[in-house]
Amino acid sequence: MNFTVLTIFPELIQPFFFHGIIGKAIENSILSASTMDIRDFAKGKHRVTDDRPYGGGCGMVMKPEPLAGAIRAAKEKTPQSSVIHLTPQGRPFSQKVARELAVLDGMILVCGRYEGVDERVCQGLIDDEISIGDYVLTGGELAALVVIEAVARLVPGALGGDQSAEKDTFEDGLIEHAHYTRPDEFEGDKVPGVLLSGNHAEIEKWRLESSLKRTFLKRPDLFKEKKLSKQEKEILEKWREQIRQIIERG
Ligand code: SAM
Repeated sequence: MNFTVLTIFPELIQPFFFHGIIGKAIENSILSASTMDIRDFAKGKHRVTDDRPYGGGCGMVMKPEPLAGAIRAAKEKTPQSSVIHLTPQGRPFSQKVARELAVLDGMILVCGRYEGVDERVCQGLIDDEISIGDYVLTGGELAALVVIEAVARLVPGALGGDQSAEKDTFEDGLIEHAHYTRPDEFEGDKVPGVLLSGNHAEIEKWRLESSLKRTFLKRPDLFKEKKLSKQEKEILEKWREQIRQIIERG
């Protein structure tokens, strides 16, 4: 998977490629990543990338020529890549969308600034538009990094070793179970005994219950989309019975 980020602030993006899981995956040639400075495609001494909006009004708009030049140059380097525009007007980003993007050969991520990008570039040169949430950032750089981080960890081999993204929150429609590490007692609070038992079947059962409980308490909306397994239904039935008894006892 190749990531190319088109931005007028490449220095905001580049350090990200040297650290953590992304840095390791790049080192191991599982991922490649680079930036292109949109200003390098702007004409004139001042390499201007923005101009006043036609029709008047406040703010500036990203000029089409430098951006189109940058997109075409990136496409020439990685012709199989999809061109993705980060914009609050795009489709909402989610773990499902990250999975969808993780099978691409590459992504050319276009970061807007100012009031946004000239519409002719959006219409002519963009394959997909993604929003990282219903709020407005000053630029697309943080959004591009969010997308890169979420997608990169789903690329096979990127997490390395025995790490897996499959049990992460949202992957099976639930929030992930609680985690504990050493010490087994912290400020009087003990790790649940089952996790120290070495009984893998019981540990898996506890994790599923923890996952269901956390989803119910923190994100009950997730159950609307969730297809429950037989085991999940049994756990919920057991709780229903326990809750019924509590209510009846008054
Ligand atoms: N005037 C635009 C609008 O109302 O749709 C917002 C422009 S915003 C100030 C500047 C740039 O930040 C956008 O072109 C986009 O690249 C990026 N951006 C802002 N919010 C974003 C979001 N929620 N998701 C992805 N990109 C975002």
